[in-house]
Amino acid sequence: MNNVDRLRERMADAGVDALLLSHVPNVQWLTGFTGSAGSVLLTETDGVFMTDSRYTLQAAEEVSDLPVRTFANPVRQADFLAKNAHDLGLTRVGFEREFVTYGAYQDWQRAFAEIELYPAEDLVASLRAVKSADEIAKIRRACALTDACLEHVVRLIQPGVREWDVLMEIEFFFRRQGADKAFEPIVVSGERSARPHGHASDKTLAVGDFVTLDLGAMVDGFCGDVTRTFVVGEATDRHREIYAQVLRAEQECCAALLPGANGKDVDALARRILDEKDLARYFGHGLGHGLGRLVHDSGRLGPTSDQPIEVGQVWTVEPGVYIEGFGGVRIEDDVLVTESGPEILTHFDRELLVLPR
Ligand code: ZN
Ligand code: ZN
Repeated sequence: MNNVDRLRERMADAGVDALLLSHVPNVQWLTGFTGSAGSVLLTETDGVFMTDSRYTLQAAEEVSDLPVRTFANPVRQADFLAKNAHDLGLTRVGFEREFVTYGAYQDWQRAFAEIELYPAEDLVASLRAVKSADEIAKIRRACALTDACLEHVVRLIQPGVREWDVLMEIEFFFRRQGADKAFEPIVVSGERSARPHGHASDKTLAVGDFVTLDLGAMVDGFCGDVTRTFVVGEATDRHREIYAQVLRAEQECCAALLPGANGKDVDALARRILDEKDLARYFGHGLGHGLGRLVHDSGRLGPTSDQPIEVGQVWTVEPGVYIEGFGGVRIEDDVLVTESGPEILTHFDRELLVLPR
């Protein structure tokens, strides 16, 4: 069954007669389109893919399950969407309430005139979370390239090197391999490693620093996402104790991603393990997220996410401990849920590396 039919099935179950999709990752998932602007009107038996003239040729090549309609200046997008909704004879259209700005909504409301627009629940997220064989193959390639990048940049980790130097080498590596970065890589060291999402700076690496690298390649539109923390020069007992506890939490949570589990229970497991060394209070963010076209793809592993774990989902597992004035540790791997258990897609060494070796 193609994704259009999978979504139609969900629409029938939810009593949604017509859906307007405009969130680009959802549109890409549904149609195979790889451009950066497009939308879809879908009903049980009908539908249309709409984009602008920049993508006329590309859409004709890439979109095969729905008819393609394109518009050009001076036609406005809102008017074009409304015209297509009229042509399909629609009277009531659900839009993606999670992704439409209030400004776009007002604009569409004016253009759609007597056609009623209403905020529809997200029917795509849970479908998109379960990856096809082709999507999994692309994620595997992104993960392999991310591992290779870590192997490459780890030799740069030594006293006197700037965080920026490491950042640039990560970016060059991905570009040289014909890939792209999935997100702005994080390179933080010393006290700065207590910033879970800190940006690289001109700080130089120094003996006794924790250094955290969080990076991911994007290959064929799919992302990898890996974090490793190293110690520069010499590790203390405190470094080793914190690292060992985060690693145990990470490994046990990866192993707990079994079909039928729930995301909030796996998150709670991480907090329980960190709590054994009184470290859970330094773990502020969620345990992980879905991985796919977006680095933060649909689905979350967190204390408040009632998230069923299913075969075909790909998750990051990334517990962390961040101590202000000292530093932080995060270890992150990407995990595919299979019938026979979790398969870890990223393989870079997880034991504490004291660098340079
Ligand atoms: Zn990450
Ligand atoms: Zn992540």
